[in-house]
Amino acid sequence: MNCTDLLSQLGDYLDGQLSEELRAEVRSHTAGCEHCRVVLNTTHQTIEIYKGQELYEVSPELRERLHNAIMAKCLKK
Ligand SMILES: [Zn+2]
Repeated sequence: MNCTDLLSQLGDYLDGQLSEELRAEVRSHTAGCEHCRVVLNTTHQTIEIYKGQELYEVSPELRERLHNAIMAKCLKK
């Protein structure tokens, strides 16, 4: 799994929809990729806030922002 693969699975991962196999791949990628780990943690925190407000939704806009943020950082490595 690379950064692009992780991003394509991110919404499902956060929704708890991924298979155990894919979750393991996400974990192993984030273990070795600081940028994705940071983004994942930040996204988790953001979602917890939204959940508290009962407005939880991983919108296309949020996915797009996260995607751009991760790709910009990962490409700089
Ligand atoms: Zn990555």
